Amino acid sequence: MCGITGFTGKSRALPFLLQGLEKLEYRGYDSAGVTLVGTEELKTWKEKGRLSVLEEKLDIAHCPQRCGIGHTRWATHGIPSNLNAHPHNNMDNTISIVHNGIIENYVELRADLEAKGFVFASETDTETVAHLLDFNYRETGNMRDAVYATIAGLEGSFALCIVSCYDPETIYVAKKENPMIVGKTGDAAFCASDATGLLSLTKDVLPLDDGQIAILKPGSIELTDFAGKALEQNWIHIPYDMEAAQKGGYDSFMMKEIHEQPDAVRETLRGRFDKNDRIRMDEIDALEISWERLRRVYFIACGTAYHACIYARTLFDRYADIDSFVMPASEFRYGTPKLDADTLCVFVSQSGETADTLAAVKLANEKGAATAAITNVLGSSISRTADVTLYTAAGPEIAVASTKAYTTQIVLLICLIMKLAEKTGFVIPDYAHLVADMKRLPQILTEILKLEDTVGQLADMLKEQRDAYFIGRQLDYPTALEGALKLKEVSYVHADAYYAGELKHGPIALIEKDTVVVAMATQPEVAAKTMSNIQETIARGARIILITDSTIPAERFEYVLRVPAVREELAGIAAVVLLQLFAYFTAKEKGCDIDKPRNLAKSVTVE
Ligand code: GLU
Repeated sequence: MCGITGFTGKSRALPFLLQGLEKLEYRGYDSAGVTLVGTEELKTWKEKGRLSVLEEKLDIAHCPQRCGIGHTRWATHGIPSNLNAHPHNNMDNTISIVHNGIIENYVELRADLEAKGFVFASETDTETVAHLLDFNYRETGNMRDAVYATIAGLEGSFALCIVSCYDPETIYVAKKENPMIVGKTGDAAFCASDATGLLSLTKDVLPLDDGQIAILKPGSIELTDFAGKALEQNWIHIPYDMEAAQKGGYDSFMMKEIHEQPDAVRETLRGRFDKNDRIRMDEIDALEISWERLRRVYFIACGTAYHACIYARTLFDRYADIDSFVMPASEFRYGTPKLDADTLCVFVSQSGETADTLAAVKLANEKGAATAAITNVLGSSISRTADVTLYTAAGPEIAVASTKAYTTQIVLLICLIMKLAEKTGFVIPDYAHLVADMKRLPQILTEILKLEDTVGQLADMLKEQRDAYFIGRQLDYPTALEGALKLKEVSYVHADAYYAGELKHGPIALIEKDTVVVAMATQPEVAAKTMSNIQETIARGARIILITDSTIPAERFEYVLRVPAVREELAGIAAVVLLQLFAYFTAKEKGCDIDKPRNLAKSVTVE
């Protein structure tokens, strides 16, 4: 999810590289670096921390080079550090690259290169590409052939920019499953990982497609496929300004991040299935625990991540014959959790810095429980404190109200449950079918996003409301909780969530004419019961928005949204997207500051 810039032309490269990185810093910000190509040598600077730290180190006025590449990192392999920061160079500093994505076969490539005598300086997957280019350059004797040979050997996802002393005016750009946009003027050619980085020089851009390589020289761009065959160039004109571009054309980061969910889920699942379609989780394999003695599992988090934990615990409890508990971190710490060597504690935190969750990890460690963290931020405090860490690959989440972090947390928690089934011997029915549907999740999320306009119209019902109620049973309950939280957070409409069967035991006293009830019924086994609870609210004058699966009959309801056909364990991942959209549209109608709701902070580092 990093930011990349590249420039080759007749003027200095550095100012362009830095202004582009500033625009792209939202994509990654744990370290930054640039390489400038002179006629004799490459010069690389890189620093852990924000771009400003790098800028302080650079003598910007005295860098005359006209070709270079830049990067702001969002670490996936190796902690944020000076050594792991990009660019990565070959051993004699004649080739330099920046990369966005994950090289999936890096372990094999690295072993192979090390056996050939290449010495690695970092823990990243990316560095393998720099040495592989070096190897191929020695084999082929020219950079162009070396680039094609190298790309052919890579598996995984990448947007790559390559520069070298051998071809000092050329930038090779390759794209597979990570964005890359190129552009040019009369005497320059440049690239960036989104259009924002280019808009200072041009509004006419060429977004690369998967499987394409662009060769940038001052004033010209050549486009080929990975085999070197020339391709037609489909240029487009960007109609919007800088501010809009940073949000990728959306009016808020929240909406952008809602739309990033298919990709975020795809990235989170990347590499998680082995060739027999069993879950791959080396992190859990590394956990020191005696699995046959495992007695209890705790799921612990705060806020939205706590809802992901309720989802996970409900599912775990359905399948496993092991006691399980779910608790907000702030309660776990002060309660009387039963912690010993036969206990596994799973902690979830988007930022990895949530103070309550961090304190809970420390407590579990002290008591000798095994601790596993799920977070979105490499090198975060929680990841350094727990025994093992599983990373969601949601990319930076900027809007305060969490969206893509939540869905990716649930996806990873389900993978974890599947792994625990294997470790402790409980059975997940029709495992292969579940795996197949998990692989379809990005596509299912893309489909559900097509209901955006319908949700936008229905949200009209909510904007005048003082209160709204969300109900659901079983796996629909955490979704209801998350929907109510999202609505409260961004639109300030008071919202409560209840188990559908609990409504009649009290809260139904609040239902009156035109009260909006958002009812979730995606779980076939309990849908009929939820339908009865819905009728009870209709009898008191409520207006119902029903979110259900593709099979449950719902003709008698006026406002029905259907989740695409998918295993019931996964339906909540799709359904919650509709609730995120409800919150977004209601907030927009009310003119709220969607990305920065009052009183809230992104990473809650106080207890
Ligand atoms: N996988 C690479 C790394 O961890 C690139 C990450 C990125 O896209 O920023 O360094």
